[in-house]
Amino acid sequence: MIEYSMPLFRPPSEAKSFILQATIGCSHNECTYCAMYRKETQRFRMRSMEEIRSIIDEASSGYISDRVFIADGNALVMPQKKLVEIMEYLNQKCHDLERITMYANVSDIIRKGIENLKVLRQLGLEMVYIGFESGDDVVLERIKKGANYEETVKASKILKEAGIKNSAMVLLGVGGVDRSIEHAYATGRLLTDTDPEFVGALSLQVRPGAPIYQESLEGRFQLPDKFQMIKELEIIVENTNLTDGYFFSNHISNYLPIKAKFPEDKERVLEEIKNVLRSRNESVLRPDFYRDEINQY
Ligand code: SF4
Repeated sequence: MIEYSMPLFRPPSEAKSFILQATIGCSHNECTYCAMYRKETQRFRMRSMEEIRSIIDEASSGYISDRVFIADGNALVMPQKKLVEIMEYLNQKCHDLERITMYANVSDIIRKGIENLKVLRQLGLEMVYIGFESGDDVVLERIKKGANYEETVKASKILKEAGIKNSAMVLLGVGGVDRSIEHAYATGRLLTDTDPEFVGALSLQVRPGAPIYQESLEGRFQLPDKFQMIKELEIIVENTNLTDGYFFSNHISNYLPIKAKFPEDKERVLEEIKNVLRSRNESVLRPDFYRDEINQY
């Protein structure tokens, strides 16, 4: 029986993947809006190679599908030698393996560099999920993201050179009321400059356990209301030009789910968003109780 350190987080699109929890927690663990790995039991650590091998042994006799997601929060932080060993073992034991994915931080990507990432690509690393959150350096500093605009562009170029797909997440509302508009314009610009294959927009939910919760109680952070978050979505979509990518806001945290292929669907979804902002018709939005009860990152 494979033992996971819980709670376990993975992107919604990895629902059918086998989750190989090679690391526990997140080595950064400072983002002020994030409550994912705050428990003592989730303090960052890497499993030993022996443990990882035994998990893969067990999983390869039944659990592993053709997709593997290496968890937790930023598995790319592992030393290159260890990642290569894990991925080689996965390839050796799982004959139907089609793709490997993981979360990655901008700094981990820059530290690895193109050549190391090309090696991981050859071993099956098809895509990484990166939390861009915002393109506004003021916001990025405030939320302690650990990466600025320029670094995020640099990391995205490295990924393209290495042939690894970029699935970027941006966070509506994270600039608060005071930086809402700046956050939205800069985020659209960042998405254009990085040109990811996938963009996922999520809406910030201020949760106990995340430092931003305390900031909010003390009046130092004010979450924009639902229509302001949709306004941010409008500005982001308007300012995002992707060569060939998908833009989704169908994560359960969002008030207005959209699915679009860029560039061809851009004008259609923009019109959809503008209609909602014009009518302010709440009945077309996802209700708060639904977002609150079901949302799990
Ligand atoms: S948002 Fe990601 S990088 Fe930031 S603390 Fe949470 S898991 Fe770590």
